[in-house]
Amino acid sequence: MGKLVVKVLEGKEKREKQYEVMREELDPYTTVLELLLKIREEQDPSLVLRYSCRMALCGSCGMIINGRPRLACLTKMKDLDEPIRIEPLKNVGTIRGLVPDLSSFFSKYRKVRPFLVAKDEEEQESPKSPYRQTDEEVKRYLQFNYCIQCGLCYSACPVVSSNPNFLGPAAINVAYRYTADSRDSDKLRVLLLDTPNGVWSCRVAGSCSVVCPKGVDPSLSIQLAKSLILRRKI
Ligand code: SF4
Repeated sequence: MGKLVVKVLEGKEKREKQYEVMREELDPYTTVLELLLKIREEQDPSLVLRYSCRMALCGSCGMIINGRPRLACLTKMKDLDEPIRIEPLKNVGTIRGLVPDLSSFFSKYRKVRPFLVAKDEEEQESPKSPYRQTDEEVKRYLQFNYCIQCGLCYSACPVVSSNPNFLGPAAINVAYRYTADSRDSDKLRVLLLDTPNGVWSCRVAGSCSVVCPKGVDPSLSIQLAKSLILRRKI
């Protein structure tokens, strides 16, 4: 059985720490989050990480595991080569240990007005009746609504790496999600997307969609947003 080697690169400086864990204490379905908590409990109380729900709902435990952005609670031993190498998310800052500083990610997310804007302001504040939608109308945005704001797509995006001003996949995805909603009448959101650092910076690398743990396809929503902008101009 032997020992499993786990390398953790901590903080902004990526200080490398190495741990060894007896394999018989793990099983193929042990998650990286469980492994890290075990290491913190038994070997290194100074190991700092962020997590909450343990079931891929909160999006808190994003980190780079063996070179790829993943949720630690969703990543199992059986799917990883050894030694396991863990580091903080890329394209964002690092607060401490494995904890990312997602402020740039969230400020872009907020910037694109991620909420419904009704035509009538009075109606927006005090709706008089339900906003009914057909199945077809719901299908236009439903899959893009499953985003949990984990930041994995942002960390994987090669355009964000070279241009930190790019809005990034998650912000554009949520902007498209609301713009495609039949209940929305916002005019400003599309203007924010139709800029050099908005949808037109995307080079369709697709890595955002590959790493998304919720099956959202941000690469698709970006291309749909481009198409929507062009159609509105015709
Ligand atoms: Fe995370 Fe997917 Fe949302 Fe990106 S689109 S923030 S990867 S859930």
